Amino acid sequence: MVLAFIEHVNEAPTMLSLEVLTMAGRLAREMSAPLEAVAIGPGGEAAAGILSSYGVSTLHVAGDSRLAEYAPSAWAHTVAELTEQLQPAVVIATASDRGSEVMAHVAARMKLPLAANCTEIAPGDPFTVTRQRWGGSLLEDARLKGRVKLLTVAPHALTGEASPSRTEVATRTFTRTLDDKDFRVRLVPQVEADTGKISLAQARVVIGGGRGVGSAEGFASLEELAGLLGGAVGCSRAVTSLGWRPHSDQVGQTGTKIAPELYIACGISGATQHMAGCKAAKRILAINSDAEAPIMLNADYAVVGDLKEIVPAISAELRKSR
Ligand SMILES: Cc1cc2nc3c(=O)[nH]c(=O)nc-3n(C[C@H](O)[C@H](O)[C@H](O)COP(=O)(O)OP(=O)(O)OC[C@H]3O[C@@H](n4cnc5c(N)ncnc54)[C@H](O)[C@@H]3O)c2cc1C
Repeated sequence: MVLAFIEHVNEAPTMLSLEVLTMAGRLAREMSAPLEAVAIGPGGEAAAGILSSYGVSTLHVAGDSRLAEYAPSAWAHTVAELTEQLQPAVVIATASDRGSEVMAHVAARMKLPLAANCTEIAPGDPFTVTRQRWGGSLLEDARLKGRVKLLTVAPHALTGEASPSRTEVATRTFTRTLDDKDFRVRLVPQVEADTGKISLAQARVVIGGGRGVGSAEGFASLEELAGLLGGAVGCSRAVTSLGWRPHSDQVGQTGTKIAPELYIACGISGATQHMAGCKAAKRILAINSDAEAPIMLNADYAVVGDLKEIVPAISAELRKSR
């Protein structure tokens, strides 16, 4: 059996979990094995409807109400115990912040190796994977050993593809005896105002700003352009370090991984750690005063010049054409 650990928001699997289900479905077909899924936290069972388009036969839902809040150790304990009980050949999750953390805990608990950030998986003996290393600047071919193969899938390594045929999904609630110490680290709920902003991870257009923007106020012209294009604003780590934008806006290896149709990088040099977060963009337009900036090597289009002139000029043209 292949067991997919899925994350869900608003009673539906996240976009990255749909990618995992697609990879897991391919794997299950190649191995002639059933595909099952595990969801933790409230609303997990509601994901069953969507899972039926991904070939899932059983959805395991953790019943302990204390798991409603994200607690990496407790979530991992739950996944590890379910794995011991079901004895799947493979447990697979997305390499999101949570997926990576939970699977690392599962591997440590079960004393098993974990292959993180996989882009391709070939089951069999040997069981081989291709995985991203160093923020995706290197691809490694590796053989994975272990009685259960633990894997995470690199975000945006593939797209989530629902099947036109639907399966019947049985939902099974299970409870585990969790220790209080499993909850020592947990996410205390925080209430955030719904700003109605398009999420960076899902936006079709992202306008990224770097140190070259010059100040927090300098982002107003990027916000304006994002508004005209129906996109989201992101930034580099230099910007978050300077306190101009929150960490949630950061694109990169230690920020959000984006996959828009168009990424407009303004005043961003294109360090490998930044490119690790935006290389899944279909097209990159770089606006930079330095024609030799590293981002030029990765850009599909480039404008060499001062972003303070170019960004407002693009917005003005867009307004004229409407
Ligand atoms: C472990 C680790 C993790 C990291 N993770 C991340 C990450 O997730 N995301 C990330 O972004 N970085 C990350 N970094 C930092 C990364 O290495 C770079 O330092 C950072 O991306 C640089 O940000 P920047 O391009 O905005 O700034 P700079 O490198 O200073 O580049 C500024 C650019 O703006 C241009 N410019 C200046 N003025 C103008 C103007 N008026 N008009 C047009 N262009 C102009 C310059 O020519 C230059 O190319 C990480 C580093 C480490 C060590």
